[in-house]
Amino acid sequence: MNGNILIIEDEDAIVNVLTSILIANEYMPVVAKDGQQAMMLLRSFQPDVILLDLGLPDIDGKELLKSFRQTHNCPVLVVSARDSEQEKVELLDLGADDYITKPFGTSELLARIRVVLRTRTVSEDRGSVAKNVYCCGKLHIDLDKHIVMLDGERVHLTKNELRIIELLGHNPGKVLTYDYLIKNIWGEDMPDNNRILRVNMANIRRKLEENPAEPQYIMTEIGVGYRMADESCF
Ligand code: CA
Repeated sequence: MNGNILIIEDEDAIVNVLTSILIANEYMPVVAKDGQQAMMLLRSFQPDVILLDLGLPDIDGKELLKSFRQTHNCPVLVVSARDSEQEKVELLDLGADDYITKPFGTSELLARIRVVLRTRTVSEDRGSVAKNVYCCGKLHIDLDKHIVMLDGERVHLTKNELRIIELLGHNPGKVLTYDYLIKNIWGEDMPDNNRILRVNMANIRRKLEENPAEPQYIMTEIGVGYRMADESCF
């Protein structure tokens, strides 16, 4: 078994699709049709991942996410029909691990689940057997030694470029918001910081990407943030 998955969703058609995909891929799904059932199952079922629909009959999914986060650190993947950038940023800030927009493809769903499961395992293991190397295609980052290699050659980066890459490299496959990156690199009170982040990213892409206009390693989630390619994607 690959893990227990709590599906919080009130629409039968979507529940059926999700459960059959998950069972076929050796996950154990359990379904909650509203917030109250979800809170009960969260305690008794001990899920490894939560798939959360935002439009529930008894509570807004965002409120549910807030109350999960007070007591649990189980990864939450929001499955939503809402596709606004502002909404995605808000969800990530509230503690969602990732989001997927309906209608979604099976392989995208499974990839996102693998990423949230792995990210969580890696951060729990950190300090003991953490794997502090990011490898994807021709890109190799040693996160302990702060060395970036592309196709066997050392890439020369500024201090801030390196810190951006390392934050993303510690979270492959996961979107990090512009705000999160800026706060971690420049602190809270940097004026005009979005522009500075964009300039740094343009320089990073010029150094790493074969075609900076079609990046393979660091993708832009427009209006939300950046996502480092999942290591299994190549
Ligand atoms: Ca719904």
